[in-house]
Amino acid sequence: AKEAGRNSFRFFEAALDAGSMRSLTLESAIGEALERREFSLVYQPLIDTRSQAPLAVEALLRWHSPRHGSIPPDHFIPLLEENGRIGDVARWALREALRQVRTLQEAGHPRLRLAFNLSGRQFRDPGLVQDIRAALDDTGFDPRLLDLELTEHTLTDNPEAAAAALRALRQLGVRLSLDDFGTGYSSIALLAHFPLHSLKIDRSFIQHMERDQQAAIIVRSSAGLARNLGLEVIAEGVENLAQLALLQELGCHLIQGQVLARPLAADELGRALAPA
Ligand code: C2E
Ligand code: CA
Ligand code: CA
Ligand code: CA
Repeated sequence: AKEAGRNSFRFFEAALDAGSMRSLTLESAIGEALERREFSLVYQPLIDTRSQAPLAVEALLRWHSPRHGSIPPDHFIPLLEENGRIGDVARWALREALRQVRTLQEAGHPRLRLAFNLSGRQFRDPGLVQDIRAALDDTGFDPRLLDLELTEHTLTDNPEAAAAALRALRQLGVRLSLDDFGTGYSSIALLAHFPLHSLKIDRSFIQHMERDQQAAIIVRSSAGLARNLGLEVIAEGVENLAQLALLQELGCHLIQGQVLARPLAADELGRALAPA
């Protein structure tokens, strides 16, 4: 029996392909990444289509592992959700972002908003709202200038808990945005049920709208729907001037994308923002 056990272990080991070995070592590397200060934030400006001024910046998490190099957030955030460390990393990230954007506000951009992504897993944490309140208080950040980005997935995963959390967040005075709009199955129902301020049209529609008539219709309809509901309309992933012109014509309030600005480190962002 012992022999068989050893053989099956060897078999199991051999069956691990390069991909799963890599994700196993990534998982162990990310366990220590926060303590080793391997995370950082970059900020991508959101530009007002009328005034052409940067009205907000979205904080985007970066992980540079000395061993594995730069890992994209689409890849490592699910790992943090699985190993339960997303809460610790997000608490650190929010304070870091509030502190850095507050510095920019004090340097001559007093109304600059911070957009911050919340993951679905964080909504299962009963301390979420209290953590956000404490971070705002400790950094002296005006809650009206914080914009929390939520995805449809976050809201539908546990609708009752999400609705309660959103009501409490509204009472804090923060803004709420629905991110990646159009990628789920109940996006329109969500607009009626949750107290949102902005809607962010998913970049997959923006990227195809010049060539794909369906994508163009979805962008046009989403922008119209949001405007009629009194929501601010944001387009993300805008890569060229043709898309920019079309989105302006459709009445998008804010534009985010490579055509205007890539995500920048806080010090680079400080230099890039024109003095107010
Ligand atoms: P997202 O919230 O939809 O963020 C927008 C993504 O689009 C970012 O990718 C940004 O770098 C990218 N982007 C910006 N302009 C362009 C463009 O013109 N073209 C294209 N193709 N892409 C553009 P990034 O930084 O790789 O982040 C990917 C996702 O990871 C984010 O998608 C968000 O869901 C998640 N994420 C990033 N930071 C955080 C965080 O701090 N917390 C949580 N929970 N999620 C985060
Ligand atoms: Ca986002
Ligand atoms: Ca998005
Ligand atoms: Ca996205």
